[in-house]
Amino acid sequence: MLYSFEVFPPKPTTPIEKVSACFAEISALKPDYISVTYGAGGGTAGGEVTCALAARLQDEFHTPAVAHLPCISYTREEISAVLADFQAHGITKILALRGDRSPNRPEKHDFRHASDLLHFIREQGQGEFSLYGACYPEVHPEAKSAAADLQNLKRKVDAGAEQLISQLFFDNQVFYDFMEKCEILGITVPIEAGIMPVTSASQIQRMVSLCGASLPRKFTAIMQKWGDNPNALRDAGIAYAVDQIVDLAANGVDGVHLYTMNNPEVAKRITTAVSGILGRI
Ligand code: FAD
Repeated sequence: MLYSFEVFPPKPTTPIEKVSACFAEISALKPDYISVTYGAGGGTAGGEVTCALAARLQDEFHTPAVAHLPCISYTREEISAVLADFQAHGITKILALRGDRSPNRPEKHDFRHASDLLHFIREQGQGEFSLYGACYPEVHPEAKSAAADLQNLKRKVDAGAEQLISQLFFDNQVFYDFMEKCEILGITVPIEAGIMPVTSASQIQRMVSLCGASLPRKFTAIMQKWGDNPNALRDAGIAYAVDQIVDLAANGVDGVHLYTMNNPEVAKRITTAVSGILGRI
């Protein structure tokens, strides 16, 4: 079973060195890979930061890295330049994304969907990249319908996505239903379940408004009880994520992708709790 992490670059005003200690600790947990976001949430940081961090994970911490690459704000020429940069830094795994829409990043119209980027990378033959795609167990918010979203996901796989990483969810049944629909549609590539340990009240409000994840009663009870008690909420959020991973592993999912929020302590506690279950000790 795959076990991977996600990290994000620091704010532009923070030197990259500041996140080095965090990345060192997260790498020491020996995930199968660590993915590095790129302008997530509409940020304006360029690809060079993602590229530098992904290269550092590989070169200094000996951890395979996946670089996220959103495409809607770029021309073909600009994407070619980013791919060349990735290649020069030894980055061969890319999560091909459309990208979050944001007024900070005007859209250029060469790429409309992630599948356009996947086709472009495959057709260009610019380096031998392993390509990943994103998927949405609770349906992408802009999709015309759940069925249309699944057909669009199939397009991404047909365009070259060899592995999928899911949006975060808190109700495992939602993920199992999604997996079943993918299977019926002939989507057979590995799908990693996105797990976000919720350890602060502000985090949950932001995340839910961004991705619209449904909240099971067990989860809202935790928020109501300990929403204003940071220590208790951290413990409960970690326990909830562990419980989700145990259930996912018992049900034979392909993998778990942990949104670490650059918090090594939380990643460490979760990893320690599930190491035996994931067969990592
Ligand atoms: P797409 O696959 O293009 O889908 C977007 C919408 O268009 C969907 O509604 C889909 O149904 C529809 N669609 C797709 N193809 C077609 C088609 N051919 N015809 C008609 N409709 C179509 N954003 C960032 O900016 N940076 C990041 O680092 C980042 N990391 C992420 C990591 C993960 C694991 C996930 C799940 C999301 C991440 N995002 C990131 C957010 C992502 O960019 C947004 O969710 C974005 O709105 C959609 O991206 P996508 O690649 O899934 O788009």
